[in-house]
Amino acid sequence: MADARIKKLDLKGKKVLVRVDFNVPLNSDHEITDDTRIRGALPTIQYILEQGGSVILMSHLGRPQKKRLADGSIDVKKFSLEYVVDHLSTLLGVPVQFASDSGGPDSKKKSEALQEGEVLLLQNTRFEKGEEAGDEAFAQSLADLADVYVNDAFGTAHRAHASTTIVANYFDDDKKAFGFLIESEIENANKVLHDPARPLAAIVGGAKVSDKILLLEKLLDSVNILIIGGGMAYTFMKARGGSVGNSLVEEDKLDLALELIKKAEDKGIQLLLPEDSVIADNFAADANTQVSASDQIPDGWMGLDIGPEAVSTFSKAIMGAKCILWNGPMGVFEMDAFANGTRSVATAVASATDQGAFSLVGGGDSVAAVTQMGLADNVSFVSTGGGAMLEYLEGKVLPGVKAIQG
Ligand code: AMP
Repeated sequence: MADARIKKLDLKGKKVLVRVDFNVPLNSDHEITDDTRIRGALPTIQYILEQGGSVILMSHLGRPQKKRLADGSIDVKKFSLEYVVDHLSTLLGVPVQFASDSGGPDSKKKSEALQEGEVLLLQNTRFEKGEEAGDEAFAQSLADLADVYVNDAFGTAHRAHASTTIVANYFDDDKKAFGFLIESEIENANKVLHDPARPLAAIVGGAKVSDKILLLEKLLDSVNILIIGGGMAYTFMKARGGSVGNSLVEEDKLDLALELIKKAEDKGIQLLLPEDSVIADNFAADANTQVSASDQIPDGWMGLDIGPEAVSTFSKAIMGAKCILWNGPMGVFEMDAFANGTRSVATAVASATDQGAFSLVGGGDSVAAVTQMGLADNVSFVSTGGGAMLEYLEGKVLPGVKAIQG
């Protein structure tokens, strides 16, 4: 495996092509409503500038190929990365130039003229069809702009796109590396995947079992404690013969749920399902609610959050863990009436962290929950990776990671 650290690179006087994730939300006036992703890339950009390099940034923004205009052309007005330029300049404290294409004549001209300490941002890579197709010629046109390639876009590392993966093939091992953001995502995920502190507890929630099958299977090879909450818990409840009323159930996953339960038993894993639930007579914020045993939910009612007993059991188990992975909320946390379970689990993870456990929150809506609850600074690591983190935790090789690490 090649050394993938940016610190190994010789950057003095080099033009450095950096894949960042500037896929930020914009309002109808093209103003950035959340600049977290831009801020996340700053340490890498600043490091390259400090080392005497110049920076050529590239990113995607939205899905311009899917949302073409009626005449078939790209909606440049909606998806242009030009809207990011001023804010990025302010954050970096240096002017940022903009090229109206990526890998085309304007980026070529402006890259050639780029001097040490200067920053150039290319237009949205997804304006080019070759980006998502992983096209070799497009990747080469990007590679030709620079001496060195740095990938710092973990959120797209699971895609074999031209700018995230294929472009890396045009650089030797000593001319490519991860940025600090990817480096820390991988380092932190590895703390859970490789030789974790024990006991290792995984908390898995969210809507569906089908989204998390691979994760659950992989976790059963390593965890000591597996806590299952959220909508997916009711498929397990029903598989065990419980009545779950109108709760979310995936009928075609009942057998799989039983298999997973058996596997956990065979391996001596402590598997915790919510013994009680907050149930509602409607999927609505103002529904009537009550607490019920999770395997005795009356017809017409559905479990939308874990109940107080489950909160207490889950919290105790979490407090006893030394390494914690959390993926997916315990209930429909977007509605206040069903947010208590997720909030309590977030608090327990934060307390365990305070007592020395390592905790990683990632790969699903639990990141939004922890951030919303103001607890992001109280856990060890909050992944920005979404689907990429989920795939990494499932044990998959991410193409963007492999392209650099080998
Ligand atoms: P995920 O993206 O897999 O982490 O799933 C998150 C979604 O699961 C959130 O939008 C939650 O509202 C939803 N969810 C959590 N618990 C339940 C539940 N008991 N019933 C229905 N949806 C749920």
